[in-house]
Amino acid sequence: MSETITTRFAPSPTGPLHLGHAYSASLAHDMARAAGGRFLLRIEDIDQSRARPEWEALIAEDLRWLGLAWDGPVMRQSERLPAYRAALLALWRRGLIYPCTCTRRDILEAASAPQEGAPPAIGPDGPVYPGLCRHVPDGSDSLPDAALRLNMALAVATLHAPVQFRETGVRSGLHVIDPEHLVRDVGDVVLARREMGTSYHLAVVVDDAAQGVTHVTRGEDLFAATQIHVLLQHLLALPVPVYHHHRLIRDDHGKRLAKRDDARAIRSYREDGLSPAEVRALYSA
Ligand code: GLU
Repeated sequence: MSETITTRFAPSPTGPLHLGHAYSASLAHDMARAAGGRFLLRIEDIDQSRARPEWEALIAEDLRWLGLAWDGPVMRQSERLPAYRAALLALWRRGLIYPCTCTRRDILEAASAPQEGAPPAIGPDGPVYPGLCRHVPDGSDSLPDAALRLNMALAVATLHAPVQFRETGVRSGLHVIDPEHLVRDVGDVVLARREMGTSYHLAVVVDDAAQGVTHVTRGEDLFAATQIHVLLQHLLALPVPVYHHHRLIRDDHGKRLAKRDDARAIRSYREDGLSPAEVRALYSA
């Protein structure tokens, strides 16, 4: 295989592409093209209650209009459940994940119960899980039909040397994952939601590896999740890509753009008669 790089753009088809997505996609595209590498598209549609084929079609149309052609077939997470299940089974057999039946309310109540006066820690996914269902599973061979959480303390205990990842974006440098931080401030993250059979963290790691992604470009809001991803790569014996977290494109009030910011949807600029170069200039400045 060649030494070249592979990047990807991984939108969730839950709304129109806006300037922030276009910026992210352009970075990944341009990085790959500059190196003679591959630029891939992955549709992150595991949340079938929010994903819509119409949004996926519009995303593809907008990317083509912007001149951001991708290589090879599109990967769709909704078609990847067997791969997620295989990864979960590997973790389950090692006793690293456990079923959890807590509701959001159970977690909020337990997390906000006074713990020596300290406020509940808020991790990348919300309040740190207070451990109500945590136990080491009995080693049965099949995955339970429930949400599955990573036992973070056991997971970090499997690391025998410092684990590093390289960042070339806004937090440029070599980072080392911090086991204490993961246990204290991140906690037992969900790796499979009952209704989805996976979660963002598990799917992104399994799929980046399956697509041979060498450079992950994404918004800096996901930087905090990167330690989780690098830990999972180690647990699953997957390669650790280089990360490039980029600044977020904000609206005139300094708020990051969201799917509902229709005014900044690429579609709206197209309808207003802007050219692709004019739209690219809006986020390249
Ligand atoms: N699907 C995520 C999003 O739309 C991106 C995830 C990633 O790039 O790792 O925000």
